[in-house]
Amino acid sequence: MTNNSRSCPCISGKTYKGCCQPLHNGEMHASTAEQLMYSRYSAFCLGKVAYLIATLHPDKRQQDDEQTLAQTIEQTKWIGLKIIQYQSEGHTATVEFVAFYQDDPFNQLHERSNFIKENNCWFYVDGEFLPDIKLTRNELCFCGSGKKLKKCHAS
Ligand SMILES: [Zn+2]
Ligand SMILES: [Zn+2]
Repeated sequence: MTNNSRSCPCISGKTYKGCCQPLHNGEMHASTAEQLMYSRYSAFCLGKVAYLIATLHPDKRQQDDEQTLAQTIEQTKWIGLKIIQYQSEGHTATVEFVAFYQDDPFNQLHERSNFIKENNCWFYVDGEFLPDIKLTRNELCFCGSGKKLKKCHAS
């Protein structure tokens, strides 16, 4: 498998090239906040720090963003993403999601994120942490394997 045909870490089922890569490369802008959410998640998976900063609203950027992000990326192995709810109205949007990461066997980051559109670009503004969601052992695993949770990451 070449680099071009590897599947996108955002678990879209598409190849990276046909999904988040043009966004990461700056060839394309996310047309919705949901698309930006997916591309930021895959940027976390792939260590695309510059993209994460570029898609963070300028008012929210901090001097040490680069270092903090690099550290998070280094320490966290992301293994799945589930979008719970996506709402968009005009130039603002919220995305509620759960991102899963490896932690004996896994842990959740459940967040409701706020996005804003300025000069035709969507930006991540901030988010609010929410309690873990309940998963059932018979549901399909969040990692996109197509297997049931009990036969995959919760086995
Ligand atoms: Zn993708
Ligand atoms: Zn799994």
